[in-house]
Amino acid sequence: NAPLSEVDPEIAAVLEQELGRQRDFLEMIASENFVPRAVLESQGSVLTNKYAEGYPGRRYYGGCEFVDIAENLAIERAKKLFDADFANVQPHSGAQANAAVLAAIATPGDTILGLELSHGGHLTHGMKLNFSGKLYNAVAYEVDPTTYLIDMETVRKQALEHKPKVIIAGWSAYPRQLDFAAFRAIADEVGAYLWVDMAHFAGLVAAGLHPSPVPHAHVVSSTVHKTLAGPRSGVILSNDESLFKKLNSAVFPGQQGGPLMHVIAAKATAFKLAMEPEFKDRQERTIRGAKLLAERLTAPDAKAAGIDVLTGGTDVHLVLVDLRASEVDGKQAENLLHEVGITVNRNAVPWDPRPPMTTSGVRIGTPALATRGFGDVEFTEVADIIANTLLPNPDISALSARVKALTEAFPLYA
Ligand code: PLP
Repeated sequence: NAPLSEVDPEIAAVLEQELGRQRDFLEMIASENFVPRAVLESQGSVLTNKYAEGYPGRRYYGGCEFVDIAENLAIERAKKLFDADFANVQPHSGAQANAAVLAAIATPGDTILGLELSHGGHLTHGMKLNFSGKLYNAVAYEVDPTTYLIDMETVRKQALEHKPKVIIAGWSAYPRQLDFAAFRAIADEVGAYLWVDMAHFAGLVAAGLHPSPVPHAHVVSSTVHKTLAGPRSGVILSNDESLFKKLNSAVFPGQQGGPLMHVIAAKATAFKLAMEPEFKDRQERTIRGAKLLAERLTAPDAKAAGIDVLTGGTDVHLVLVDLRASEVDGKQAENLLHEVGITVNRNAVPWDPRPPMTTSGVRIGTPALATRGFGDVEFTEVADIIANTLLPNPDISALSARVKALTEAFPLYA
């Protein structure tokens, strides 16, 4: 029972270095967050030792009396948090949740209609190398070429033309809210299931700052580790009673074996914390931070340097920076921001003229910094640092010093 530092100093060093990196950089990858210590504790616990195939009260292994309590708590809290009649908390990840959703509501060969990957959709919504594009006949709707918004008339036309079995609403890179009622009306018109993947904005929904898809969709999937700030994993919700059994059996035994009970316990804790007033306050700071960033990146000096923001702003936790008119491409922007101590990811803009490894965009998110404690003052400073890094002739050492002042003022896992 020797500690990690003795058993495996190389891996112990990786943990230390990664903690240092998380502390010293400003984390602005839109899909990342910092979990509370309580979540780390559950995830690094003896629950990892337990096999528990099946569901609470109906397991294929003995000794499940305590992990049953954890899973029931996670289920009840997920249902309460999102006002859903059904929750499955076993998916190991968002992609696994999505594989189970499709297995429950479609048959291989069926047509599925989702947002085009390069316009902000996710791999599991029909990308050709992903299971979703291999098993199903995937067709995609695109954003409007002038507004970069999802136009419901376009979605409807595509749905009428392709008659999909499943319509997917949800995204990995889109800065606006979706009209779930309009999606459902189209699904009903063509006899499709509506599946909403709220992986990115689930935390905003939980805080009541974004419309909930749960009353509109046949099924909703999500990750737990993005805006929700829980352990890396997935969850499935539904109010459609006819699907509950199918969804459960699609997860287990359909897609997975033994559930990760340590992660399920950590999910229960994350759902509990998401019902606290502090969580709502944090999500409010997250959205305000993104709006401040969008404002700064559309100021006259930014526009003059060819920097812009897709759709002109944001309603959520991220901003899509449009660098098509800038000398700096997505990859260079990612590297420059890394140099000053800010972590982001380059991201293709719709119909991107630059190649996929370069891109003309950057996706910048505020959830992790809001968790770190940032409010309007700090986000205004971050936005100005980012703008000045992307403007011509950035003073990297002065900008790095400003980043350092922020990271030191907001210690992480102190
Ligand atoms: N769905 C959406 C919309 C996502 O953005 C992501 C993650 O990027 C996923 C699903 C997949 O989640 P995971 O990485 O946990 O498989």
